[in-house]
Amino acid sequence: MNQEPLNILQKIFGYDQFRSPQDEVISTVVAGNDALVLMPTGGGKSLCYQIPAIARSGTGVVISPLIALMQDQVDALKQLGVKAAYLNSSLSAEAVYVTEQALANNELDLLYIAPERLMQERTRQLLKSLQISLFAIDEAHCVSQWGHDFRSDYLQLSFLAEQFPEVPRIALTATADQRTRQEIIERLGLQQAQQFVAGFDRPNIQYRIVQKDNARAQLLKFILNEHANDAGIVYCMSRKKTEATAEWLCKQGFKALPYHAGLSAALRETHQSRFLREDGIIIVATIAFGMGIDKPDVRFVAHLDLPKSVEAYYQETGRAGRDGQPSNAWMTYGLQDVIMLRQMMEESSAGEEHKRVERQKLEAMLGLCEITSCRRHALLHYFGDDSDEACGNCDTCITPVETWDGTEVARKALSCVYRTDQRFGVNHVLDVLLGKDTEKIRQFGHQQLSTYGIGKELDTNQWRSVFRQLVARGYLIANLDSYGAIQLTPKCRPLLRGEESIQLRKDVSDKPALRKSVRSPKPSSALWDALRECRKALAEEHGVPPYVIFHDATLMEMMELKPTSPQGLLHISGVGQSKLEKYGSQFIEVIQRFD
Ligand code: ADP
Ligand code: ZN
Repeated sequence: MNQEPLNILQKIFGYDQFRSPQDEVISTVVAGNDALVLMPTGGGKSLCYQIPAIARSGTGVVISPLIALMQDQVDALKQLGVKAAYLNSSLSAEAVYVTEQALANNELDLLYIAPERLMQERTRQLLKSLQISLFAIDEAHCVSQWGHDFRSDYLQLSFLAEQFPEVPRIALTATADQRTRQEIIERLGLQQAQQFVAGFDRPNIQYRIVQKDNARAQLLKFILNEHANDAGIVYCMSRKKTEATAEWLCKQGFKALPYHAGLSAALRETHQSRFLREDGIIIVATIAFGMGIDKPDVRFVAHLDLPKSVEAYYQETGRAGRDGQPSNAWMTYGLQDVIMLRQMMEESSAGEEHKRVERQKLEAMLGLCEITSCRRHALLHYFGDDSDEACGNCDTCITPVETWDGTEVARKALSCVYRTDQRFGVNHVLDVLLGKDTEKIRQFGHQQLSTYGIGKELDTNQWRSVFRQLVARGYLIANLDSYGAIQLTPKCRPLLRGEESIQLRKDVSDKPALRKSVRSPKPSSALWDALRECRKALAEEHGVPPYVIFHDATLMEMMELKPTSPQGLLHISGVGQSKLEKYGSQFIEVIQRFD
């Protein structure tokens, strides 16, 4: 099948045009040269090797560590009429034989293979006997010992350069940092490769971080208002909390499933596969869930606990909206999160150097939460992507944050911590400030303190916001050795001495960002429901996830344009020749019913 890349994009994949820099990458590889591609999740990396593999003669070999995904990837290609297969440890000997025969007969455009399989002598012999159009090394950061997903099998991939010098190699990753990139180049012998770095922005994701007041109620409101029938991921820190939260969401009428490393492999697999195959499932997970979740229509990612670093936050939120449709990254966070994470850092058994790095990462995360300017701007800046403009699609852009002069109240808070001998947790200090009459206050004679009752101008929530900001900004720490007692740090001195003032963020209660809310793509119309029903039935019949039949974006376009002829349907993004033949008539029938 020798064709022009643009022709392949339109005829087979059903898309109008390339996204930058897909076309450049593709022409580089088609011409037989090496490429290193850095693109954010959802940027469209797969086409960068799939199209050259189709355009060049021979079989394109894709090396991927994500065994669980191979079948879906191959199924999706087959739906498009592309000849693809995979080899990994999940296959029976018979299935392996069938694929090897197909390879030997030069019948495949694409072969997906796990790295450990590639290393086997038998496979190497097989590859030697084939015509190979390219090697694609997906998730290439796995080769880096510096990165977070190191796989020792990946180290051996240097043999590709040595033994197949004439075959172009393309390495792809969504991990940006310079050091990882350098390691990929060295270990995979990509010194000659042309580098393509796409911006890391995910413009369709709306970032929102709200002050925690009642996390469950806030989450419920968020989902009900904006994502009632959508697939989403809710991240929590502990296994217990994922289970409790999933159970609670089910009681509220949602289809929610827990996912964490403590569940049996079989159960995890079932939950993951339901998430991929059914509509509208919510996964409540610890960070164990995510790597290799390729579902394009995850409409929201919610965090009930604070991630440990901006990297983790970006990676987890990045699982939303791979299809480019509007999506939400929503997080609720409060004083306790800050205290707890800081404590965990101190408690960690890691060495001093490592702790220092962890602490810096946490500072950056806290900075992102407390920031009063554009969140996206700050995120991209963190990853070395600078832009001048505010994004208009994050909470601080949509509802600009007010600040207020918190010098006076901060002084009151710090003095009260000092007067109570730095021996108590926040709640008690708050009670003293508010002049409450509790047993503990009487027991310690705290009504006698000069700071007793001096804070009545703020209510409990407002005080918690002040304390959170003071902890987040390093004026206060929670001391582990004395049961989380709040204590002053040296940073307080200039503030207490009146040499410094402090601006605080005015936290507003958690209103959904109405002006630009992500009312997701589904006007709840009868046609929409019918199109989804049709897709679901076809997905079941073919044993694939619904998005492998058509993405939401494709159904939405059908709804808008209501094509009633095969030609009309072909104009819709995501409808190629093969899908038109397979499903065209079914969808046209649905559209005609509503005409
Ligand atoms: P990545 O691997 O970079 O995370 P994918 O290759 O899975 O991203 O692509 C993300 C989504 O974007 C897929 O649903 C894909 O079909 C779609 N896509 C990729 N390129 C284009 C394009 N040129 N036009 C329209 N959609 C595209
Ligand atoms: Zn913004």
